[in-house]
Amino acid sequence: MSEFTNVAEIFGSNVFNDAVMQERLPKKVYKELKKTIEEGKELDLATADVIAHEMKEWAIEKGATHYTHWFQPLTGVTAEKHDSFISAPDKNGKVLMSFSGKELIKGEPDASSFPSGGLRATFEARGYTAWDCTSPAFVRQDAAGATLCIPTAFCSYTGEALDQKTPLLRSMEAINAEALRLLRLFGNTTSKRVTPSVGPEQEYFLVDKAKYLQRKDLIYTGRTLFGAMPPKGQELDDHYFGNIRQRIAAFMKEVNEELWKLGVTAKTQHNEVAPAQHELAPIYAECNVAVDHNQIVMKTLKMVACRHGLQCLLHEKPFAGVNGSGKHNNWSITTDDGINLLDPGTTPHENIQFLLVLACILKAVDTHADLLRESAADVGNDHRLGANEAPPAIISVFLGEQLEDVVEQLISTGEATHSLKGGKLETGVKTLPDLTKDATDRNRTSPFAFTGNKFEFRMVGSKDSIAAPNIVLNTIVAEAFAEASNVLEKADDFEMAVHDLIKKYLTEHQRIVFNGNGYSDAWVEEAERRGLPNIKSMVDAIPALTTDKAIGLFEKFHVFTKAELESRAEIQYETYAKAINIEAKAMIDIASKQIIPAVIKYTKSLADTVNSVTAAGAEASVQSELLAETSGLLSDTKVALQKLIDLDKKSEEVPEGTELAHYFHEEIVPAMAELRAPVDALEMIVDKEMWPMPSYGDLMFEV
Ligand code: ADP
Ligand code: MG
Repeated sequence: MSEFTNVAEIFGSNVFNDAVMQERLPKKVYKELKKTIEEGKELDLATADVIAHEMKEWAIEKGATHYTHWFQPLTGVTAEKHDSFISAPDKNGKVLMSFSGKELIKGEPDASSFPSGGLRATFEARGYTAWDCTSPAFVRQDAAGATLCIPTAFCSYTGEALDQKTPLLRSMEAINAEALRLLRLFGNTTSKRVTPSVGPEQEYFLVDKAKYLQRKDLIYTGRTLFGAMPPKGQELDDHYFGNIRQRIAAFMKEVNEELWKLGVTAKTQHNEVAPAQHELAPIYAECNVAVDHNQIVMKTLKMVACRHGLQCLLHEKPFAGVNGSGKHNNWSITTDDGINLLDPGTTPHENIQFLLVLACILKAVDTHADLLRESAADVGNDHRLGANEAPPAIISVFLGEQLEDVVEQLISTGEATHSLKGGKLETGVKTLPDLTKDATDRNRTSPFAFTGNKFEFRMVGSKDSIAAPNIVLNTIVAEAFAEASNVLEKADDFEMAVHDLIKKYLTEHQRIVFNGNGYSDAWVEEAERRGLPNIKSMVDAIPALTTDKAIGLFEKFHVFTKAELESRAEIQYETYAKAINIEAKAMIDIASKQIIPAVIKYTKSLADTVNSVTAAGAEASVQSELLAETSGLLSDTKVALQKLIDLDKKSEEVPEGTELAHYFHEEIVPAMAELRAPVDALEMIVDKEMWPMPSYGDLMFEV
């Protein structure tokens, strides 16, 4: 890597973007493709052939030897199968590099090895990937050389979605149609398309690779299953926004360069709250592209970390007792001519279109809080949401002082006459400029916060795809828009009807608004009084997918069929059971083969010491006490280990699906905690030289 980075030059250099297409494709072909991208017009094979040819030529110039349909099955990560461009050798033994329109548009990976839930029974192993031309193709350079990656959707032979992208694109169509319908009622005749804009902030941890390799728990499960707290945690608050260490800075520089080449607008980077925790945020993009880019970000973080002798941990809770990682999914709705429907302007009380949009969103979030919660459900996220770490698993909306005041006025009098102003922030120092203050302070504890011209959904897990939350947001808001339009299209007096509707929605759904401290116990009680769901775990969240309410919603907007929803629920249960099973087995392995043997060695050395000290005629009471304490904890460990082994064995008899997931949640997870307790206590006593793996302190403070 060069020392000076010419960002403008490298940005998007490995992306088959609009500029490249315009330059390389014949005018007619370019126009056809634009029609497909913008209006969804079907692409004919002759046109696809030309595009494929140019794409291949361009990719080969970038060093590509292979292409892949790049898709997002329900495994949480991306999948790809590489094919080289070579065709069969001719008579002279020479190969040509070829890539047809058919190969660009459609792929046929075997679907039988990807999660499909109950759908597996109803379809053949055949699965198809279909080119998503709304997300640009790119050339990725890594140890495998350079590969042309073509973003694709993945579905079964019978057309059921087996991935994240298909329903996401469907939900974008739903919100586009319903938002346009609403906008037309407000007299907008010019906007042609409405798309959700998404900016995901990504948190992650970095640890030293060599130390990582000594922790089987990290290797197998992505999180530590044992580990006592070091003397210092995050209590000094000195890491957040703190000075970035040189080793990490070099890593970040390379991550940015890699991302820029792929057209990802990496923008913000800083240290996060926990030691060794960091964050990266791009500039927001169209929902679909943002989802793809977030996958690229996660992959790039991992890849570049390896090159720097580091390991990037994307797990939601790598370390107990310190903050975990999440993603903040910033979401707004924008027209093709640049209007953000979530922009209140300076006088929100006068902006009735904005107020209706806001009222619709409150209604949507209140009505489908369970679905939104489910969209953030992830095995790792159970450690953050509603477990021992804030935010709670209760969905509520933060509006801020200014909007809450407008809402109050509307509810109490049916009319809002003024908006609170931000005013001037006086620093009291003459040489510093007076700053204009936002009308609303921030609230970091709300799961769904209005932040000026967007909502920020803060529950999403750090390693999870952001597709699910955006599918839910797009669809529930499309539904609220549709219901509003149904009323307004019939109204005699439009203005009056809008006012009535705003008041009605705000009154009915005011309970979802909460501006206070979401981390407090008082809120948990208050939320219960308000009747807001508090869904504490992933297994409790999954049923939200298949309620009549959810099926009705998703079928109405053609986002999911009932069968697709049921298959997704099944996959979630399976995923949960498998993940906990791996954790339990890893714990058993580590406790049996590493920890107990190490502690036995330690007790032997203590016993030897006691014997020799006593033989020498001195008193060995400290050593004896330590020996007794260690032996006691060792015995507790053995008992807890045996219990976990027995319970895990019994899981083989539990029927798969819901029951098995609950078994792991209710029986295995507590048994894991029981095994962890004595082991963590032992770690505090046993000679560090003898402890079989690096400590929390080693991992978090010695990066
Ligand atoms: P904050 O500090 O309030 O979280 P940032 O400016 O750091 O805000 O933005 C966080 C993320 O939100 C970034 O990815 C940013 O691009 C994105 N973002 C900003 N405005 C919007 C918007 N209107 N819609 C969606 N995302 C947005
Ligand atoms: Mg933020």
